[in-house]
Amino acid sequence: MLTVPATEPSTSTTVPTTLPASTSTVPVVTLPPIGSAGVSVPSTPSTTTDQAVGGGSLDGRVVVIDPGHNGGNGGATSEINRQVEAGGFRKACDTTGTSTNGGYSESAFNWDVSNRLAELLRAGGAKVILTRDSDRGVGPCIDRRAGIGNLAGADVAVSVHADGSDAGNRGFHILVPGALPGYTDDIAGPSRDYARILREELPAAGMPPSNYIGSDGIMLRTDLGGLNLSDVPKVFVESGNMRDPTDAALLTSPEFRQRWAERIAAATTRFLQQR
Ligand SMILES: [Zn+2]
Repeated sequence: MLTVPATEPSTSTTVPTTLPASTSTVPVVTLPPIGSAGVSVPSTPSTTTDQAVGGGSLDGRVVVIDPGHNGGNGGATSEINRQVEAGGFRKACDTTGTSTNGGYSESAFNWDVSNRLAELLRAGGAKVILTRDSDRGVGPCIDRRAGIGNLAGADVAVSVHADGSDAGNRGFHILVPGALPGYTDDIAGPSRDYARILREELPAAGMPPSNYIGSDGIMLRTDLGGLNLSDVPKVFVESGNMRDPTDAALLTSPEFRQRWAERIAAATTRFLQQR
């Protein structure tokens, strides 16, 4: 029973901050809208998934999966509040994450989906590294979460999260690194490509793109150390709003979490196969 204090600074990962001028080189408006056609007529999604992920299609590929937060963070305030390098500025090591009103913690959700995803990608032949090894520990800090992907020479990294916003706010959004000179200018492009593929694949799991944040389910961010410090293509998947009853019913369902992992695996496979 891992309870997370309701003190989640969820706003730290959800509030659209004012992006530095540099991000204007990666305008959100260039992203294709996710109209109903994009959802109902998936180009490659769904049917090809199992085949695409299996059969050694990911042989030799390295994927780092970063389950956001950790179950012990709430009891280690001073440790997770420690300031670390985050991309030209300093920021808290980590946060507690959010939870559903029923008490299902974001860190537990992130951990469960990450392990389901790891199993799928490994079945496809990928080498998979997770940034933490349980949901009972503390951290690691955001700089280390990025560093693990860099040290592994990962082909791609994905951080699994869920949001905590007002009831009525629904759906997933994908956080993409804006081009921060000297930090993410080298990974912004491929990370955006990965996000677009995820946006195509994820709705098939039954979770719609966000109706309250980002643009068609995608949002550029330059304030996240986990993205800024990455040298490999990376995004955060904010899987839904844990504080909305409809989203929470999905997020607490093991069947949904399996579908969610399958869609992320399908998108990851497509991204790696085109590189
Ligand atoms: Zn989170």
